[in-house]
Amino acid sequence: MLAPVRPFACVLSLLLAGAAGTVRAEWHSDTQPIMGTEVSVTLWHDRAQAAERAIAAVMAEARRLDNTLSPYKEDSDLSRINAGAAAAPVDISLEMQALIDKSLYYSRLSQGAFDISFASVGRRYDYRQGRQPSAGQRRQLLPAIDYRQLRLDRKHHKLSFGHADMRIDLGGIAKGYAVDRAVEKLRQLGISHASVSAGGDSRVIGDKRGRPWMIGIKNPRARDQVALLLPLVDAAISTSGDYERYFIDPQSGERVHHILNPRTGRSASGVTSVSVIGPRGFDTDPLSTTVFVMGVEQGLQLLNRLEQFDGVIIDAAGKVHYSRGLMPPE
Ligand code: ADP
Ligand code: MG
Repeated sequence: MLAPVRPFACVLSLLLAGAAGTVRAEWHSDTQPIMGTEVSVTLWHDRAQAAERAIAAVMAEARRLDNTLSPYKEDSDLSRINAGAAAAPVDISLEMQALIDKSLYYSRLSQGAFDISFASVGRRYDYRQGRQPSAGQRRQLLPAIDYRQLRLDRKHHKLSFGHADMRIDLGGIAKGYAVDRAVEKLRQLGISHASVSAGGDSRVIGDKRGRPWMIGIKNPRARDQVALLLPLVDAAISTSGDYERYFIDPQSGERVHHILNPRTGRSASGVTSVSVIGPRGFDTDPLSTTVFVMGVEQGLQLLNRLEQFDGVIIDAAGKVHYSRGLMPPE
């Protein structure tokens, strides 16, 4: 911890620095479209050039991860796995292994609510075009959603699929991992106040110079409104919502969105938004998706069991539910 700086001393040193024409501490920020969403960085730095280099490093890392993990890029490592792993074990990087291993951990913890093989059915959805698999297609592909049939050879760094129709997608964990990587880079560069986000996954370094970072949770049914603000210092927060990618089924009037219940191959219902707070995006991202699928009751039970995590769930009626750590003491 740095000793607190008195405001007067702080202003004086900034003025002196300004007079010398060399340094002027201020906030720097940038937002770029990467990973199918917006990646944003805000950081405090006393040299504009170094700040720009730091921001560029974060964006470059997000682009690298997009190129590695995207299911939409044919030459990504993920696409290579999906193309080959049903036929024979495919070599994977240590990074890929860590992502899959973490995903399997959350699959086991939730008895399959989180399952990266949701993509076996999930790839038949196109939210932009308003397309979804027919009931017959869903029935046929559903057995291929099964994390227990993901065979990870941790020793030889290989992955194979136990079902011919199996596919994986890391969309429920990749952005949380990306914000962690960004934070690592910024820390290495000596930055002690910053906020990084990739869509609904954010992580902050330190505070916002004297006060906590305030991270907003959108109103799921009026996205330009903030439903809640949560103060954060040195923490990650991930939000999963049914409003990010969806369409309304013209026949049933149901909302078809991008978080699937692996048991049914259909959009998870009952909840409209889940935010999870914890130390790292690598955990809060998969956990927010997991809790979304589990629903209010089971989701809160899970969060209350996990020491390091807390969460806020907004249900289908708009009611807000808090995990134990966020509730006022009795
Ligand atoms: P966002 O992508 O909007 O940040 P989430 O973190 O909740 O939201 O992730 C949703 C993404 O997770 C989906 O777009 C999909 O790629 C993936 N996903 C959907 N359902 C599941 C599931 N049951 N288990 C694991 N991943 C899922
Ligand atoms: Mg998530």
